[in-house]
Formats: sequence, structure tokens, C-alpha cells
Amino acid sequence: MNISERLTQTATENPSKAAYIFQDQETSYQELEGAVTKFASSLKDLGYEKGDHIALVTGNSPYFVIGLYGALRLGLTVIPVNPIYTVDEMSYILKNGDVKGVITMDLFVGKFEHMDKNLPDIRHYIVAETSQDMSWQQSSLSDKMKSFTMLAQAGSLELDRPTLDDEDTAVILYTSGTTGAPKGAMLTHKNLYSNAKDVADYLKYSSDDRVIAALPMFHVFCLTVSLNAPLMNGGTVLIVPKFSPEAVFAMTKQWQGTVFAGVPTMYNYLLQYATEHVQDFSSIRLCISGGASMPVALLHSFEKAFNVIVSEGYGLSEASPVTCFNPLDRPRKPGSIGTSIWNVENKVVDELGEEVPAGEVGELIVRGPNVMKGYYKLPEESSVALRDGWLYTGDMATMDEEGYFFIVDRKKDMILVGGYNVYPREVEEVLYNNDHVTEVAVIGVPDPNLGESVQAFVVVDDSRITEEELTRYCAEHLAKYKIPATIEFLEELPKNTTGKILRKNLREQVKQ
Ligand code: AMP
Repeated sequence: MNISERLTQTATENPSKAAYIFQDQETSYQELEGAVTKFASSLKDLGYEKGDHIALVTGNSPYFVIGLYGALRLGLTVIPVNPIYTVDEMSYILKNGDVKGVITMDLFVGKFEHMDKNLPDIRHYIVAETSQDMSWQQSSLSDKMKSFTMLAQAGSLELDRPTLDDEDTAVILYTSGTTGAPKGAMLTHKNLYSNAKDVADYLKYSSDDRVIAALPMFHVFCLTVSLNAPLMNGGTVLIVPKFSPEAVFAMTKQWQGTVFAGVPTMYNYLLQYATEHVQDFSSIRLCISGGASMPVALLHSFEKAFNVIVSEGYGLSEASPVTCFNPLDRPRKPGSIGTSIWNVENKVVDELGEEVPAGEVGELIVRGPNVMKGYYKLPEESSVALRDGWLYTGDMATMDEEGYFFIVDRKKDMILVGGYNVYPREVEEVLYNNDHVTEVAVIGVPDPNLGESVQAFVVVDDSRITEEELTRYCAEHLAKYKIPATIEFLEELPKNTTGKILRKNLREQVKQ
């Protein structure tokens, strides 16, 4: 079984049910299934065959859904790429990923005009028309261009489906990992299918669920949790083209959304927006947080403001992504990423790979059908990440007596102050507890005496707050060596397109 095959089954069981809603228009499972098959057969007519690599460079839209499921149906390997990447970042991925075709949108054509001469292997740009403006057809790349709509409408419904093996690579996700150039995590059909199914089962997704897809679809969190998992059980995906609190609240209200998934900064924005404009979130049965640690203070405020449950989970691209979630039928533990989801094992180990006792800090490692087969064309990096069948996550964690895991922080983000370990998250949690702090990030900076010292960056809601005040506040809650030596006030913290706060940009800023 794979996700594209599963779509065919769901469409047979629930043909008229809405698979997704986009810009106020419902598309049924039968219509989606038809578009997917036609798109796949058009790709076949263009000469693509099993094993070819195709990049998917679109915003959240039906084009992403049809492009992904259509290409997978033909056995192609899909490389989703963030459309706002620079020409250099994107060229690197398209080249390294041996991409032969690109599915994109009219608004990004200009970008490809800049890089095409360096990408001789690209045969086609399949362009989705998002506006009436057809000027892209006059592009210098017009020889290679195909209309997405034409391919999805004019293709044949008769398709000889190739046999897809569980271990065939379904997608390659480029992740920045810890250092150096982005690495392509190869996820197989089994990886994608099993994680979508395990998430859907663990979080009790049903055909009545309407899941709000406001995270970017090219990111694995959205891909599995907000797209593949709801489509598994005949649910409906509410596609939000671009996250904004207004868009999420409006979509939820109009279409009675039941599940929302986001990173903590999104919860922060929603909460702040709602303090000024009262919002109704009452149709929501479950809010899912992941991608970064959810500050406990924010979790409590959000739950109280909207009378909802926020369940935190954990994952990474290399694990398709989910490994842990707070369970729905047992107590949740704020601050914890929950317990291992079914079929996936999590373990906390020391430097030698030996499991540490409950409560002790070690590296989180993961095993299960969701774990990638390796990094594309990087056997050495793959054998560092995958050892004895376990994926080494690079995240430090503890497990309690009841099997709940707590992320302490990323291994590489640990700060060493005069020989003592400081995990930025602990300091951040304290600052988040201050009523005036809305965002915070903590990093280590070089210190001539201590090796490193703690520096905090904060966004506050009152310009009268001083560094002394916050330092005093930290001193009430933290051991001396953990208190930030400096606290800098910023208008906003740097974030990536998924909404994760980028400590590495702050480190760069300090260096400069
Ligand atoms: P990505 O591969 O982009 O999905 O990033 C994965 C990384 O996000 C993990 O290795 C963690 O460092 C971080 N992450 C994901 N979920 C959580 C969470 N609930 N708490 C803390 N960190 C998280």
C-alpha cells in the first residue's frame, strides 16, 4: 500500500465526499482521483517513468496535492521545494536531486528563467495558472513549458500503473540538518504511508474531520499531518494558501474546521490576534503543535483562551516526520512531546548508544517503519544518522517513568558556560512565563572567561520593560550560570517559512 493507492480506495468508498476545499470550492474524492490519474498519464505521455525525479515548487494549493499524488502514482520521486528559496538554494537542490521536471506556478516562472541555463537536465516546467495573466507563456523557457491545467484535464483515465515497491523512494526532503549544505532525506512509500496512517489512528482522524492545512505543504509536518493523514480516512483538507491568523480563523469558521496543526509561533500569532478581535474556535476538537518546543505558558494561555486541547508531538523530516505525540485517551503532559506513537520506538541513549535511566538526559533515537532509508547520495552522512537500525535525531531528551518524552533541546544548541551545560529551552521557558515577553530565543555567545555565555533575544509587548527587570526575573527562577549575560530587545525574531525561530540567524548576527 502507498498513499496514492490508498487515495484510489478512499475515492471508491467516498466518491462524493469533499477531499479538499480551496478558495471556497469543494473538490470531491472522485474529482481528485480523476485529476490525479489524468495528471499521471499526462506525465507518462511526456516521457516520465518510474524512478524519475520531479520537483514540486508550489504554494499550498490543489496543484500541490494533484502534483504530489499524480507523480507518485506514476512511480516518480517527488522533491518538494520551498518556492521562496533563492535561485542559489533552489538550483542546488534541483541539481543535487537530479531533477528532470518541475511542477510550479506562474508566479515563480521568473525564478526558473534565471537558473535554467545551469540545469540542463530539466526537460519541462509544468506551470499552474493562478491568475488571468498569461504573460508567462512568452517566457524564454516557453519551449519547455506545459500547462498544469491542461495536463490535469486532458490526460487519460486509463493508466497502466507501475508496481511500486515499499522501499522505492517516494519523496526526497531537503533539510538543512545540523551543518553544511542541505541533505536530501529519502522517504520511501512505506515511510510516507505508515506515518500518515499511524498519525491518523493515534489522533483519531475520521471522515468527519476537516483539517486546516495552514503550514507549508512542502514541509513534512504539513505533508503528513495536515494532508496525507486526513486523506487516509476520507477527511477533508481545508487548504489555507498562506498562514495568517485572519485566514485560519475565517477558514475555521466558514468550514467548521475540526483539527488545526501549527508550530508554536503560529499559536502565538493566533492568540495575539484574538486578544484584539474575538474569535470563535469552537468547532476545533484538537490543536496539534510540533516542529519546535511549545512553551508551556503559551500552551496554557491558548487552551484557556479558546477552550481547546493543544496536543504536542515531535518529529523530524528523516522520520516522515512523527515519532511521538501526547495521547488522546491518557493524560497529556504539557511540556512533553508525549509517548511513542504506535509502531514507532523512541529511546534516550548515552554517547555509547546505551539506554539511560528514566529522567536522565541523552540523545533521542528512533526506530520504525517511518524512518528514512538514508540521505540521497550521501552514504557517509547516512551511516552517521542511521546506526544499528536507529535514527539518531540530534535532539537531547529525557523520558519519565510513564514513557513520556521531554525534549531538552537540540544537541548542537547546548551552551557550555564555564563547564556547565545550559539548554536554551530552559531559559526560554522562564522568559516566556514573564507576562510581557511574547517571543524569545536564547543562544550561546563566545565569552573570554567562561568559554560561552547566555544571550537572550526577546520581543516584548511594552517598550518600558528593561533588561535589568528581565534579568532580575530570570534570577528568581534560574541558577546563576543560566541567567542571560545579555538580553537584547528586537521587534521580531527571525523565522523560517514554516514559522520556526532561527537561532542560527541570531548567532550569525552576533558574529557579525
Ligand atoms: P524538520 O526536519 O524541519 O522537521 O525539523 C526537525 C527538528 O525540529 C527536530 O529535530 C527538533 O529539533 C525540532 N522539533 C520538532 N518537534 C519538536 C518539539 N515538539 N519540541 C522540540 N523540538 C522539536
